[in-house]
Amino acid sequence: MTARIIDGKTIAADLRGKVTDSVHRLLRDRGLVPGIAVVLVGENPASEVYVRTKSKMVAAAGMHAIDRKLPVTTTEAELLALVGELNADPVVNGILVQLPLPPQIDSHKIIAAIDPAKDVDGFHPLNVGRLASGLPALVPCTPLGCVMLAKSVHGSLAGMDAVVIGRSNIVGKPVAQLLLAENATVTIAHSKTRDLPALCRRADLLIAAIGRAEMVRGDWIKPGATAIDVGINRVPAEGGKSRIVGDVAYAEAAAVAGALTPVPGGVGPMTIACLLLNTLRAACAQHGLPEPKI
Ligand code: NAD
Repeated sequence: MTARIIDGKTIAADLRGKVTDSVHRLLRDRGLVPGIAVVLVGENPASEVYVRTKSKMVAAAGMHAIDRKLPVTTTEAELLALVGELNADPVVNGILVQLPLPPQIDSHKIIAAIDPAKDVDGFHPLNVGRLASGLPALVPCTPLGCVMLAKSVHGSLAGMDAVVIGRSNIVGKPVAQLLLAENATVTIAHSKTRDLPALCRRADLLIAAIGRAEMVRGDWIKPGATAIDVGINRVPAEGGKSRIVGDVAYAEAAAVAGALTPVPGGVGPMTIACLLLNTLRAACAQHGLPEPKI
């Protein structure tokens, strides 16, 4: 079998287009422009590239981008004060504090200080709890993107055997909750799981969020299954260069799986598209408007 390649770039572009249309309607009908504040502390080059890309896409979707860059020496109190200021600013509908933060700042305290209604990353304990309780919530962007990609293949995920490898608060746990909400039967595997290959071979839907280059081999995948690869791993390449690979051994998996996301070009582009969607949803909710139909 040769897997269908799930084109995250195209699916993300389509989602961004729908969000943009909805943003234009919001301006035309209500005079509203959703705004997102992205806060970056310190000089992490990877985060800087990511934040720049986010701001560009936010602007391209017709939204207002508010970038706040703070020095690496910023104290927890200073960052809390900025979060308080953004919470109170009506122009700001979404707040994203780029992680990781410098060691003098407790990221849990910062996340808990964000107004849950503006928590477009979906990391605030209130949104985490609402998702776990099956209530409407702002949900984390990468997990939401994973579920959308899986649904682009299957429509409904009801009754599917899903295995999620990874139990982080950012990917593994929320993606498992979202799959449960889609009525999949969900198993969460992690670094202490026994006989991971055998467990994975049972999965109709395998989500790899590990952070280990090409750890999931072709013979871990049930023939015809769908594999969603969240991993972003930089490995050495020819000529002293480097390249990005996922957590799934792509060529091996493509020979066995029914559908597979590439890295790059799979889950990655969905993350920012879902951030735009969350910002639009947050803006509508804050103005007492119905959930946008996307
Ligand atoms: P993390 O380090 O917080 O969590 C990794 C998880 O993998 C842990 O729960 C751990 O138990 C599990 N794990 C580690 N080694 C294992 C092993 N040998 N067997 C089984 N499980 C094992 O990482 P994270 O933040 O969840 O990110 C995971 C990957 O996804 C990383 O490569 C990260 O860069 C990538 N990521 C991509 C996006 C995106 O937009 N595409 C977003 C977030 C994270």
